[in-house]
This record gives sequence, structure tokens and C-alpha cells, in this order.
Amino acid sequence: MNIDLTDPIFNNEEAARKHFEASRWPSGPICPHCGVIGNSVELRGNSTRPGLYNCRDCDKPFTAMIGTIFERSHIPMHKWLLAMRLMSSSKKGISAHQLGRMLGFGSYRTAWFMAHRIRESMREVHPESAGPLGGEGKTVEIDETFVGGKEKNKHRNKRKHIGTGGAGKEAVFSLVERGGKVRSHHIPAVTAKNLRPIVEAQIHGATYVMTDEGAVAKNLSGGFALHGSVNHSIGEYVRGDVHTNTIEGYFSVFKRGIIGTYHHLSQQHLKRYLAEFDFRYNERAALNVTDAERAEKVLRGAVGKRMTYQEANGKGA
Ligand SMILES: [Zn+2]
Repeated sequence: MNIDLTDPIFNNEEAARKHFEASRWPSGPICPHCGVIGNSVELRGNSTRPGLYNCRDCDKPFTAMIGTIFERSHIPMHKWLLAMRLMSSSKKGISAHQLGRMLGFGSYRTAWFMAHRIRESMREVHPESAGPLGGEGKTVEIDETFVGGKEKNKHRNKRKHIGTGGAGKEAVFSLVERGGKVRSHHIPAVTAKNLRPIVEAQIHGATYVMTDEGAVAKNLSGGFALHGSVNHSIGEYVRGDVHTNTIEGYFSVFKRGIIGTYHHLSQQHLKRYLAEFDFRYNERAALNVTDAERAEKVLRGAVGKRMTYQEANGKGA
């Protein structure tokens, strides 16, 4: 992780706010009430909080925070920007305790809620709009895994839980294009019924699909151009191009992060942790994304994702 803490956006509130406004409004302030662009004035005065604009068209006040994860937050923007940079640069993630210490928060709850809003910013809203993974001459590896529960999540253990998601564990199904992107799904149980719609919607028909021999997913791959599978139960891990090392590498980072950093992973939050790990993988350095660009992408993702504490906690609006 390489962060220049002397960058004003991380320690000067005015610089941080201007940074966010430039990101959200590249062509000038947009009035959220009437939609007019660039016809507003920033209000300045002793009793006026910084960043308050007034629209000349509809004469209503607004800020850049409206309709974002920052709306109604009392955390200064420079701390949000630093937290986004920290969370997007740390391969295994950062716990809310650690985040709270680094940002000087007195309360764990503040850091916890902040971290969940940042994860929400990392979440792709319409992954299907990017089209399916794979294509002609491309390979997609698919596999399921289980997280949570008290036992260690050893690879061979998962066979016991196929079709149940059981023993207090949550089922995750992921698809990774080699040299490309990952998409992870929290599913109620590993069944053909749950996996098939995901595979059909998210993998291009001409794709070379790889699965683990014992995986439920193996029986779904008919209809694709070619198919290879690896039989881990007899110790066969790699057969030329036929392997699932990419997806296993991905699961390994995710699990080390989950076990080492997020000790108490509850079921209703799993989808957000998956969004966080998918995001970092998809914007990884190997694809020439810098730490600053990755953080910028999180900042853009903050727009249109208001979240209340109750929603973060899985208790509905
Ligand atoms: Zn207006």
C-alpha cells in the first residue's frame, strides 16, 4: 500500500470536498431537484456550511452529498477519502477496529457503518450490463466454496455440504475469467437449480469452462464450447490448461481476508464482503489499475447508494 498522507484530500476538508465535487460534477454542479447543470451558486456566509449550493433555476439548496453514501454523515470528507483509499488498496481488507483507530474514531459503530457504506460503493449495480464473462477463445473457471461456521474451510470438507450450504456455513459461487474479472454470488445452497441461471446469464456460450470434477457446477456446463474439469479427489490438480488455479487463488485471498480480518462474518453482510473482494480483484494492479484510480472508482460508486444504519445492519429501511 502506497499512500501519500500529505495529499491535501486526506487532511484538508476543503480540498477533499472539492475533490469529490469535481468527481461527481465534472461539468459543474447538478441540481438534484430540477436537474439543471451549472446554474447554481455556492452559498458563502458565517452561518452557511461549506459546500452548500443554491440553484438559480428552482431556487432550492443542495450539496454534492445528496443521494450518496455520504448523505447525513457527520464524518468529514477527507476521512471518507482516506478510508476509501485504505480499503481499496489493502488486499485482504481492513477491519472496522483498525479503520476506526487509523481515522481516530471513538466508536466502533462509526467505523463499522462507514466500512459497510464503502463496500456498497464498491458493489457493481448492474454487472449484467457489462455482458457475460468469457467468449471465443476465453476460459472461465467456476467453483463453489463455503465460508463462516467454526470449522476450518478445508477444500475436502466442502463435499459434505453440497446441496445444503450447511453446518453454519454460507455458500458462495464464483466465476472468474482468466486474465479478466470475477463475479461472486452468495447463494442459499449449492444446487443445480441455483447455479444454472447464473451460469447461463453470465458466461458467453463460446467459452471454455473449467470446473472442479466434484463440483455441482460440472453438470451445468453443457452447452458451452468446450469443457474441462480437474479431479482433486485423486490428486490431479493441473492437466495442461485444464485447471482451476485462478478461482482457487481468488477464494484463498477471500478466505484469508475473511478469517484474518473479519472475525465475525454474519450472513446478511456476506454479499457486501464479496462485493469488496470482487472489486479489488477486478481493479487489480495486474490490470494496470493504480491505488489512486481504484479509490477514485470507489468514490464514483458512492453516488446513488444511500444507506441507513438499519439497512447496513440488514434490518430493512
Ligand atoms: Zn434546481
